[in-house]
Amino acid sequence: MKAAPVSPGQKFNTKNTKPLLLVIEDNPDNMTTVKAVLGPDYAIIGAADGRRGLEKAISVLPDLILLDMSLPEMDGYEVAAALKKDERTVDIPVVALTAQAMKGDRERILAAGCNDYIAKPIDPDAISKTLAKWL
Ligand code: MN
Repeated sequence: MKAAPVSPGQKFNTKNTKPLLLVIEDNPDNMTTVKAVLGPDYAIIGAADGRRGLEKAISVLPDLILLDMSLPEMDGYEVAAALKKDERTVDIPVVALTAQAMKGDRERILAAGCNDYIAKPIDPDAISKTLAKWL
């Protein structure tokens, strides 16, 4: 799927459409949860590994990316770094989704280029509020 050409600063949601969210997550249960929680408010595209997620990010240019950090093919750190190095995707907010709760992970996630962080298990209120902050 190719996105329509978008001029700098133009958003997908200026015409009363839902913001486009790319969810890069390899765990099917988590993907189901995210779609159930966010489906009413976002148009959601999914990718189940890091490499496909990066390809989809470049091809559809979503408004926001929700990125699991533990992924096959490319992990979330590699995906975030690649997104922030590419001028096509550098301005797309990236929110990390991770079960890792060790001290220092937040710093490492932000250093990789993610804009924010959500811990698993997914809290519906927290995820909605955190994503809304970045749109
Ligand atoms: Mn994972």
